[in-house]
Amino acid sequence: MTRDIDGLARDYVRLVLEIDTHEPGYVDAYYGPQEWRAAAKASPRSQEELKAAADRLLAQLGGFSATDTDSAARARVLAANVSSARFRLDMIDGVHAPFVEEAERLFALRPELKPLSDYAAALAHIDAVVPGRGPLTERVQLFRSRFAIPADKVDDVMHAAIAECRKRTLAHISLPEGESFTMELVKDKSWGAYNYYLGGNQSRIQINTDLPVSIGQALVLGCHEGYPGHHVQGIYDERAYRTKGWAEYSVAPLYAPAAPIKEGGADFGVDLAFPGDERLEFEMRVLYPLAGLDPSTAVAFDALRRATADLDGALLTISQMHLDRVITREQAIDLVAKYKLVAPVAAEQSLDFETEYRSYVINYASGETLVRDYVDRVGSDPAARWAAYEHILSTPILPADLKQ
Ligand SMILES: [Zn+2]
Repeated sequence: MTRDIDGLARDYVRLVLEIDTHEPGYVDAYYGPQEWRAAAKASPRSQEELKAAADRLLAQLGGFSATDTDSAARARVLAANVSSARFRLDMIDGVHAPFVEEAERLFALRPELKPLSDYAAALAHIDAVVPGRGPLTERVQLFRSRFAIPADKVDDVMHAAIAECRKRTLAHISLPEGESFTMELVKDKSWGAYNYYLGGNQSRIQINTDLPVSIGQALVLGCHEGYPGHHVQGIYDERAYRTKGWAEYSVAPLYAPAAPIKEGGADFGVDLAFPGDERLEFEMRVLYPLAGLDPSTAVAFDALRRATADLDGALLTISQMHLDRVITREQAIDLVAKYKLVAPVAAEQSLDFETEYRSYVINYASGETLVRDYVDRVGSDPAARWAAYEHILSTPILPADLKQ
């Protein structure tokens, strides 16, 4: 006898909620029945019991025969989610796999790493964009420092940025009435910004101000954490749970095959919402004046931004070498400083993130490539591109599906 997909989905939610009692923070968002969470907290199964439960659930999903396409898609994605959770349970127990394998088992996406020597041309290009004497990293830092938003303007600039990201998203995607977010400036975090999706179509967005926030980051963060990124992704997940009754969408584990799609989609969001030169145009017209920065300098900064984007993949290679203990922490900091063109203190923040979240770092660069290539395949028509993005938000989907 096979169980129905909704029952299997509820077992999965219970599994995830109980894993969170062994690894606080494993659940990134939950807006299902509060009694489920209370029950998980009150009497969680042991790690061994959870592993056995995950194995059982995987076997049941393997034997599940769907009678409709929705159920088939849900069962496939659920199986990948349970498989990821099962491996996370091993990791909580101290099992370590090599970086690439860990990434593949947690996120169902095998990152393609290139040797650092492949990024020599990108560094040479940046050298031409920011000419001058002295080491390239220092020149770029000095150049970038002129584009920091003054601390007392960060709040205003970020609100203006998110408002524009929201407006452009709403032009293509309909969101429920009353959806909203709050934004806070915080300190002492290993990340640059975070979205806590609270349920009820509400988010709490936090921006870390340990390091200066660059004017070039405002729209990136607004799109990534807000619209059409994490806030909108949360709304779509919650909609699948509330309107379709798909229980698995009531919970979002931090480590899951959805992560590269969500982080990648959030990173890609700024290019979707601001195609071509529209980003630069909005920055020059609105954000630079609001920050008290000279708009005539924006073109040069934009050129640097485009040039440094080619270095994104280098950070994965460095993470792999560091986490697989090919290089020391000190060597990793030097390499991050070199390839991210930042000061050692910023390189350390990057390393702190990687030490805490490990192979989660692949979800940005590898995930963005995945989502970008998928949306690019429909061409340049904005309506078609947003429709492709919305399809990703509203369908049970795995990273491999975006490659087809
Ligand atoms: Zn994110």
